Amino acid sequence: MPDCFAHSHNRDHDQSGAGGMVDPFGRTVSYVRVSVTDRCDFRCVYCMPEKMTFLPKPDLLSLEELDRLCSVFIAKGVTRLRLTGGEPLVRKNVMWLFRRLGRHIETGALQELTLTTNGSRLADFSQPLFDAGVRRVNVSLDTLDADTFKTITRRGDMSKVLDGLEAARAAGLGVKINIVALKGVNDHEIDAMIRFCGDRGHDLTLIETMPMGDTGTDRLDHYLPLSAVRDDLESRWTLDNIPWRTGGPARYVQIAETGGRLGFITPLTHNFCESCNRVRLTCTGRLYLCLGQNDYADLREVLRGSNDDKALHAAIDAAIGQKPKGHDFVMDRKTNTPAITRHMNVTGG
Ligand code: SAM
Ligand code: SF4
Repeated sequence: MPDCFAHSHNRDHDQSGAGGMVDPFGRTVSYVRVSVTDRCDFRCVYCMPEKMTFLPKPDLLSLEELDRLCSVFIAKGVTRLRLTGGEPLVRKNVMWLFRRLGRHIETGALQELTLTTNGSRLADFSQPLFDAGVRRVNVSLDTLDADTFKTITRRGDMSKVLDGLEAARAAGLGVKINIVALKGVNDHEIDAMIRFCGDRGHDLTLIETMPMGDTGTDRLDHYLPLSAVRDDLESRWTLDNIPWRTGGPARYVQIAETGGRLGFITPLTHNFCESCNRVRLTCTGRLYLCLGQNDYADLREVLRGSNDDKALHAAIDAAIGQKPKGHDFVMDRKTNTPAITRHMNVTGG
């Protein structure tokens, strides 16, 4: 199958949005993650190379176009929207988009508007985000050591992220910290991070490194299966499985000693595709049906082809009709090239 299947049409699909979007495997798609920019002020070692080539700016959808596309998805039954990137808060005027999308929270069409951020600008943006209708943010923070932070992000200032976390708390935003677990880099800090989050009332999620895009480093050197991390944590902490879900792929436990929640995102050791409810939209209007597959639908041309949303509804329905069953991520020495050549910042985490 070609990577782009934008122009296939499936007349059997409902174009009104009524009844929601259901894929060929019976999964209802109710969650869209939107990468509003591929640019970032960090260069995390697992995400992108030091010298990253970003998309030409003219290829990007305008904020108005992103608003229109998101609104079509909401009309089609999407109830959760997460803005991500790249770093979403480096996109110029991104607060305009948050405020516009906030109108769907007011009407009740959207249950949740969230973002994933590296936190570098959260000190300035927390209150405006809350005012726009955001109630939870995911903040990526892989370490509590300033030098390790600099090594992982290649240029970030950890104190700004810590200030951002304080600002988020002061604004009333719920915070979940995301850690990419890296063997020999931050695995010895997981206990400290559990205490840090427990003290502040933040949730915490551990993520396995995914083989996406060449980053100029060997991911396998630091790959850490979370099944092993969990076994290790259980020798010191009491972890109780809980049915808590936040719409994403994490599976949660509650830590009896802190009362905090700990999530595990395990694309490698435990594939979670059977319950996938998500699709991903890039800042150029590509709709990826699976983070771990290369196929996409190009919605930009359809969007620009007409002011009427009918064609967009049809193109989205056709794409959902081709959502693959799952990803095939593998991490071993035999498979030493990334499964997906696209970097994580293109489709967001
Ligand atoms: N810049 C924002 C941030 O870092 O939170 C949002 C975009 S970032 C691509 C989203 C999430 O993907 C982050 O939590 C990041 O740690 C994670 N991530 C990036 N590359 C990854 C990879 N190769 N494997 C697993 N997680 C990755
Ligand atoms: Fe930027 Fe997020 Fe990728 Fe780090 S993980 S380089 S912060 S997009």
